Amino acid sequence: MKITAPRGTFDILPGDALRWHWLEAAVRRVFGYYGYQEIRTPVFEHTELFQRGIGETTDIVEKEMYTFTDKGERSLTLRPEGTAPVVRSYVEHKLYSKGGITKLFYMGPMFRQERPQAGRFRQFHQFGVELFGTESPLADAEVITVAVELYKELGLTGLEVLLNSIGCPACRGEYQKALLSRLTPLKEELCASCQQRLHKNPMRLLDCKNPRCRELTEDVPPVTDYLCSSCRGHLEQTLSSLDGVGIGYRLEPRLVRGFDYYTRTVFEVINTGLGAQNAVCGGGRYDHLVEECGGPPTPGVGFASGMERLLLTLEQQGKFAGFSSAPQVFLIALDEKLAADGFALATGFRREGIATGSCLEVKSLKAQLRAADKLQAEFVVILGEDEWKDGQVSVRRMADGKQWRVDREEVRQFIKDLLGREL
Ligand SMILES: [Zn+2]
Ligand SMILES: [Zn+2]
Repeated sequence: MKITAPRGTFDILPGDALRWHWLEAAVRRVFGYYGYQEIRTPVFEHTELFQRGIGETTDIVEKEMYTFTDKGERSLTLRPEGTAPVVRSYVEHKLYSKGGITKLFYMGPMFRQERPQAGRFRQFHQFGVELFGTESPLADAEVITVAVELYKELGLTGLEVLLNSIGCPACRGEYQKALLSRLTPLKEELCASCQQRLHKNPMRLLDCKNPRCRELTEDVPPVTDYLCSSCRGHLEQTLSSLDGVGIGYRLEPRLVRGFDYYTRTVFEVINTGLGAQNAVCGGGRYDHLVEECGGPPTPGVGFASGMERLLLTLEQQGKFAGFSSAPQVFLIALDEKLAADGFALATGFRREGIATGSCLEVKSLKAQLRAADKLQAEFVVILGEDEWKDGQVSVRRMADGKQWRVDREEVRQFIKDLLGREL
């Protein structure tokens, strides 16, 4: 029986790996400009971390986690998101002990047992940033700016920032009471999951996609009407800081995000270009999560961005048309006796940092040229018996067929001089 990759997973094949490298390099570069340092946490954690960190009432914890019991009877879970593990590590290693702010980023696979659909996977990849140690609205503005600037660097177009404040525990309580008294009489008309959420986390009803639920919640007052003065001031300063760096946004009072840990700022960056409004990233402030995970009271703010959807969008926007992993040189030996010399010459190129391919088998010139062509090599270097006796090789530029005879001692320098030169 043929064994295939599990449902909801996929292989990144060699042709696609380049896109991932390119994206990962851009993420590291841009996050580096803003002073974020990489942190790598395990792919599995104690289940309790996500129950406490993400919140029991979220879809992720209720329905989507890959949870298993190991041979030591411990309940472990493949990480469904990156923030809780980073917070756990921040607390465990007392990264707060130096004082001041700590800026971290992560990148890697996450796991959720969702129904597979286009662009959604059970093993998927995210990168994200977490900024710990300040309540300053400049931190919220910075985190949003990092995301937007990264997408700009990638060349992504058609983006919009959606932003909301869901307040602090004090003012949010008032809002939740208001929602509850308004929606409880309508309970029977809500969808099943909203009926369940109504008493646990009524704000989650605002992001239900069910059309009837949307209708019923259509004219509830926005959460921003209920903000206390310090939450209101925080929101206003976040917005004016974004104005100051020319980052556009739209206030979206229904935006609440799916995690229980958010306080004050929540935001998404959505792609408006291609029909459906897909979020390419989401995040917000979480001023109580560190404490919730056993650390000292420490405010934080961050975002996460899904990499599959980002790559898909970039592909649809034509970003990867010119991507290639073509070797610069392809080495052809025409005679069995020259095979070892060819291997040595190829190794010499590689030691000089020139990407070099070969057949590793002596075949006809035609077959080897075809192989070079298939790989889209820029040059072929041909070892023929007579030339080799004279200490020479042939160099052919594939783009225009121009050919040279070169001393074999000088061929590496000769190729280096030609590489990257316009025809
Ligand atoms: Zn408040
Ligand atoms: Zn609903």
